[in-house]
Amino acid sequence: MTSDRIEARLARVTERLARAAQRVGRSPDEVEILAVTKGHSKDAIEAVAEAGLGAIGENRIPEAEAKRAELGDTPDLAWHFIGRLQRNKARRALRLFDVIESVDSVRLAEALSRIVTEDELPPMEVLVQLNPGGEDAKAGFGAEEAVRAVDAICRLPGLKVTGLMAMAPFTTEESVLRSVFREARELLDRCKEEVPAFEGRVLSMGMSNDFEIAVEEGSTRVRLGTLILGER
Ligand SMILES: *Cc1c(COP(=O)(O)O)cnc(C)c1O
Repeated sequence: MTSDRIEARLARVTERLARAAQRVGRSPDEVEILAVTKGHSKDAIEAVAEAGLGAIGENRIPEAEAKRAELGDTPDLAWHFIGRLQRNKARRALRLFDVIESVDSVRLAEALSRIVTEDELPPMEVLVQLNPGGEDAKAGFGAEEAVRAVDAICRLPGLKVTGLMAMAPFTTEESVLRSVFREARELLDRCKEEVPAFEGRVLSMGMSNDFEIAVEEGSTRVRLGTLILGER
């Protein structure tokens, strides 16, 4: 897709996002857009940067590595990892990405922390991934474990825990989506209250099919693939 097409799509998304924010008295500036480029070529990443977005999301290490090799440095783009990260790929992830949004276990966080320290890398920004619907198949921490996990991960050297990430279940039912996003927002507040070291300024939630509900419920970052770049 050309950057003109992307700009036109982005204009519509920005408008919808602004209306969702206004419905609940939020400023649209509180919500950033992460362009999810997984499944698209490196041209999509270039087009996204040209359209003026500052961050992209990828969910597979080999795919991101291949694109990175083709593109070289992209100083105007922050690369966010949003997929399931195996511990044996942690080192590669630390080299490729500026933010790891999908820290879904304390063991993974420990592995990342150890490598940052050993390799003397700059601190890595991470989000702790929730499993707010409590779905068995989904990665992340349930409501009862989240506070303890955030506390444990905040104590690890070499990681900067800026917030939480959540994914809604696959459903179009608005009431379900809304309650999942609300629960994530409440967990963010609880973590901020109970873990003084937790910054908690980022709440990454909302995808192409549910981002307006996520914004109404307090998202500060929506992760949009299909809406901006078309079908994969
Ligand atoms: C693919 C993906 C997205 C974007 O999905 P769309 O429905 O295309 O907007 C967002 N977050 C995560 C974690 C993803 O894997």
